[in-house]
Amino acid sequence: MPALSLRKRIVVACAVAVALWSVGFLAWRLTGALAPLVFFGYLGTVVAPGVTYYLGLPAHKRLKGRRALTLSLALAMFSAALARAVFQQSIVQVEGLIFEVLSGVFGAAVLHFLIAKLIGPLIFGRLYCGWACWTGMFLDLLPYRLSKGRLGGFWRRLPAMHLAASVILVATLVLGFGYVPGPAGALAWFLGGCALYYALGVGLALWLKDNRAFCKYACPAGLLARPAARYSLVKVAGDPTKCNGHAECIAVCPMDIRIIDYTRLHLRVLSADCILCQNCINVCPDGALSLSLGLETHGIELLRTR
Ligand code: SF4
Ligand code: SF4
Repeated sequence: MPALSLRKRIVVACAVAVALWSVGFLAWRLTGALAPLVFFGYLGTVVAPGVTYYLGLPAHKRLKGRRALTLSLALAMFSAALARAVFQQSIVQVEGLIFEVLSGVFGAAVLHFLIAKLIGPLIFGRLYCGWACWTGMFLDLLPYRLSKGRLGGFWRRLPAMHLAASVILVATLVLGFGYVPGPAGALAWFLGGCALYYALGVGLALWLKDNRAFCKYACPAGLLARPAARYSLVKVAGDPTKCNGHAECIAVCPMDIRIIDYTRLHLRVLSADCILCQNCINVCPDGALSLSLGLETHGIELLRTR
C-alpha cells in the first residue's frame, strides 16, 4: 500500500476518531455510564495523530513505524484499563470478565470483551491483538520477530487450559467464598495479572525464540476472539496473478500463516490467527496483498509448522 496524501490521511484519521467517539457515545447512552465515553473519546483522540503518521510512511518503513503506533495505542489502552481498576474496580482481563459474569455485573470488563473479542472481531478480525494489546505490543519489541513455525500437539491445547484454570479459580472465589474484589483487590488483580502475563510472555518468547509465543500458546483472551475472527469482514486478500511466490510475506508473519497458500487457493487469509498487523502487505514487492472486505462462512487454518 503506497503512502497516502496528507489530505487522505487526515480523512482516515478523522473517520477513526469519529468511529471511536461514536462507540463511546453509544455505550454511554445504552449504559448510562460516562466512563465508556471518556475512554473511547480519549482513545479516538490519541489514535488519530498516530494513524496520520503511519499512513504517510512508504510501505518499507511501516514495519518499524508500526511499533510507534502500537506503542501509543497500547499505552492508551493500558492507562484506561488501569483507571478502570482504580476508579471502577473493574479488571479488564479475562479473570475480570469472569468475576463480572459470575457476579451479574455489566461492567467495563464485559464491555471490553464484547467490543474487543466479539463485535470488533466480526468486523476487523483480531485487529486488537495486532495493534492495541499492551501485552502483544511489548512482546513485539523482543528480538525474535521471525518465528520458526507453529508447535502442535499439547501446545495447541494450552490456551484452553489457561482459560479453564482462570474460570475454576474465579468461580471458586466467587461461588465458594463470596469473594468479589474491592478497590485494592481490583488493582492487585489487574497489576498481578499484567505482571504474570508479561513474565509468561517473555519467558515463552525466549524459550521458543518466538516473540508471539504467548499469543499462540497461552493467551485466553486471544482464544476468546478466535471464533468471531473466523468470520470477520476485513481480511488480507492475495492476487494470484501478481504473487511471485518468493514468500517474503510468510517470513515476516508473526503468526506463522501460510499466506501464499491461501492466495494459490484463491482464498482470502481465513486463519483466525491473523492479527491484521499488515506486515505481509507491507513487504510484498509485487503489491499482491491488500486488505479486503468479504464474507466467508467457512474457515481453513494453513499454518507453517516447525
Ligand atoms: S493473543 Fe492475547 S496477548 Fe496476544 S495480542 Fe491478543 S490479547 Fe494480547
Ligand atoms: S497474515 Fe499478514 S496481517 Fe495476518 S498476521 Fe500474518 S503478516 Fe500479519
